Amino acid sequence: MKVELICVGTELLLGSIVNTNAAYLAEKCAGLGLTCHFQTVVGDNEDRLAMVLQTAMGRSDIVILSGGLGPTEDDLTKETAAKVCGRTLVMHEESRERIRLFFADRGMEPTENNWKQAMLPEGAVVLENHNGTAPGMILETEQAKVILLPGPPGELTLMFEESVAPYLAALTSQVICSQTVKICGVGESKAEMMVKDLIDGQTNPTIATYAKTGEVHIRVTANAQDRKTALKLIKPMVKELKTRFGNHIYTTDEETTLEKSVVDLAMANKLTITCAESCTGGMLSARLINVAGISDIYKSGVITYSNKAKRRLLGVKKSTLQKHGAVSEKTAEEMAKGAAVMFKADVAVAITGIAGPDGGTEAKPVGLVYIACHVKGKVTVREYRFSGNRTKVRESAVSAALSLMRECILVYYSKVTFGKGES
Ligand code: ATP
Ligand code: MG
Repeated sequence: MKVELICVGTELLLGSIVNTNAAYLAEKCAGLGLTCHFQTVVGDNEDRLAMVLQTAMGRSDIVILSGGLGPTEDDLTKETAAKVCGRTLVMHEESRERIRLFFADRGMEPTENNWKQAMLPEGAVVLENHNGTAPGMILETEQAKVILLPGPPGELTLMFEESVAPYLAALTSQVICSQTVKICGVGESKAEMMVKDLIDGQTNPTIATYAKTGEVHIRVTANAQDRKTALKLIKPMVKELKTRFGNHIYTTDEETTLEKSVVDLAMANKLTITCAESCTGGMLSARLINVAGISDIYKSGVITYSNKAKRRLLGVKKSTLQKHGAVSEKTAEEMAKGAAVMFKADVAVAITGIAGPDGGTEAKPVGLVYIACHVKGKVTVREYRFSGNRTKVRESAVSAALSLMRECILVYYSKVTFGKGES
């Protein structure tokens, strides 16, 4: 089944809003095992919309449109789709009643425009809108199934989850299951190279890689007549990924985040943790503290931005700062050691780096970050060179620190080995 997306809205064409609906729909369709071949953005213009819709219906089995279902003049998706599909608009009594209730609940009177939203193409499958007034609809024509969804993301996503996903799943009469293998400490391009042959040769299951900051997620998706068969198809592929990525895989569970895996690991080994941060200004602590229940193992941490703070709060030597500079392997090491002593923690992580945009030199460019992890007296320090703006460098540093913590704890306590990843 080939799917195609059409997002309607002049605001999208002007760049005033970001097309998050397209990203959402594309990802959901992929998850359902449907191939998305085209995405189009078109303004609120009847002729141009009719043109792209006709083209889409001619080459795809399913066409999903977003936007332009509202009550105003420029909302013309439904009218145009009805015309293209050769349907007239008729009053849909249930939708009319729903609109009446929606306004009555809020003590308001609907305007003439609002009633327009209950006029639907004859024969349409109506999709209830539980977050607004405009119903969605499906026009089943000989050429294609045309699905119309409202533009506001809150309305669109709920309607998709509730009505469209089950409809699409039933169309394919197949069950689609997927599992995500989450990897840290391996760069995006390296991870892609490592699975290129699997991607090239994929049929069922399919695999797709998603690059996140400091992480790569690989989603394995299979479709089959039933869930059991789909899971059976997924299993050997996940096993193969485990062989290739080994200990760099931190979870295959949908809900588990990198910080959660680190916290779980520390808890399992009864380790207290602390952070000493410079350029990341507390972001690492914040991510760790995102994890509920961390109070058992995280007592305190510090932000030591200036040299003076590094010396005073962590005991970094003056000579170290003078000789090597604040952004150096040696300073990171002393920060981690100092934090471990100061906060009596089993695991102490320190981050020092140049986030930019200023402050870089040829020898120490923007993006240079040192991260040290101290586990029971053993310190591992690593140098990283991140790219991107200030925010990106800081976020990358935090993810790398989480990966390094995980790695050091595993190496120390579980005696596992890591292949050489590249961050
Ligand atoms: P309304 O009843 O609010 O008019 P609608 O179905 O007519 O809804 P639009 O008028 O096209 O939808 O868009 C309404 C709002 O929804 C936009 O102002 C924008 O904030 C959001 N929106 C529309 N399309 C998209 C999109 N593709 N991605 C993200 N947001 C969108
Ligand atoms: Mg509108």
